[in-house]
Amino acid sequence: MERVLITGGAGFLGSHLCDLFIGRGFQVVCMDNLITGNMDNVAHLMGHPQFRFIHHDVTNFVYVEGPVDYVLHFASPASPIDYLELPIQTLKVGSLGTHKVLGLAKAKNARLLLASTSEVYGDPLEHPQRESYWGNVNPVGPRGVYDEAKRFAEAMTMAYHRYHGVETRIVRIFNTYGPRMRLNDGRALPAFASQALRGEDITVFGDGSQTRSFCYVSDLIEGIFRLLMSEEVEPTNIGNPSEISILDFARKVVEFTGSTSRIVNRDLPVDDPKIRQPDIAKARRVLGWEPVVPLEDGLRRTLDYFREHIGRQQGGN
Ligand code: UDP
Repeated sequence: MERVLITGGAGFLGSHLCDLFIGRGFQVVCMDNLITGNMDNVAHLMGHPQFRFIHHDVTNFVYVEGPVDYVLHFASPASPIDYLELPIQTLKVGSLGTHKVLGLAKAKNARLLLASTSEVYGDPLEHPQRESYWGNVNPVGPRGVYDEAKRFAEAMTMAYHRYHGVETRIVRIFNTYGPRMRLNDGRALPAFASQALRGEDITVFGDGSQTRSFCYVSDLIEGIFRLLMSEEVEPTNIGNPSEISILDFARKVVEFTGSTSRIVNRDLPVDDPKIRQPDIAKARRVLGWEPVVPLEDGLRRTLDYFREHIGRQQGGN
């Protein structure tokens, strides 16, 4: 049985990866320091014979006993609110943490996949964003801690590949949504959903004309699995190219929840990208992958999860 280490394995994407690898017959070592991850996301896997949890901060030396065939480096605060609150940890996990897991991959002769991000393109001047675009990033703005950490992580990953011959893959993840997002992580969908479900004002930043392209989590996870198993070393975009303005997205959440909430405008955060849409021609060509879950279906499933979660919180669990 092959063995995979997933850092950030108790987070939103990490925990879905744990499920996928367990389902496909791998042994999974899930590592997390739980600063933004949550044990509730992997509670159903505890005690499973293929699953092991290690509570560890990957910015410190990473030790894993026994063989490791694959490493997926998903540990990082990933929402703008999280990395504003945890700027140093965000920089450390992208830089020192990436160095540590690459060292582990080299020692174990494992293949490593780095979770990178559309944020490497910054506030893009090219649209949609192809992998060949180098980006428009403000290194010293509030988002710089995440953007530059991920850019450094990509550089470090390529250096380990070129200099040490480590087998590496880099996925550039675009906005993703689905069950297990934290209701209070400050991102657009959890914010709008919790506001709509509580009957509070829905806070659209700026005039809401900025765009994003939202991918349902099961689509993303399948794309990542295919990339890991492919021979593609250069960064690869995985995301859903269907683009929507944030105002229209807020309206959809109101419609789907049947909420009576009003949409109100708040200041646009500094360096908030005005447009974002992945060009996924390469993923289509190399991985034979494209997203299949329409926004309406994904939204229904995610809103069901949020409803249950809010209900539970009110129920005192
Ligand atoms: N946004 C918003 N209201 C909120 C949270 C986010 O209008 O309560 C906007 C945010 O300014 C951005 C978009 O929604 O333009 C997506 O933000 P998110 O935090 O989800 O992630 P980003 O794509 O900016 O990393």
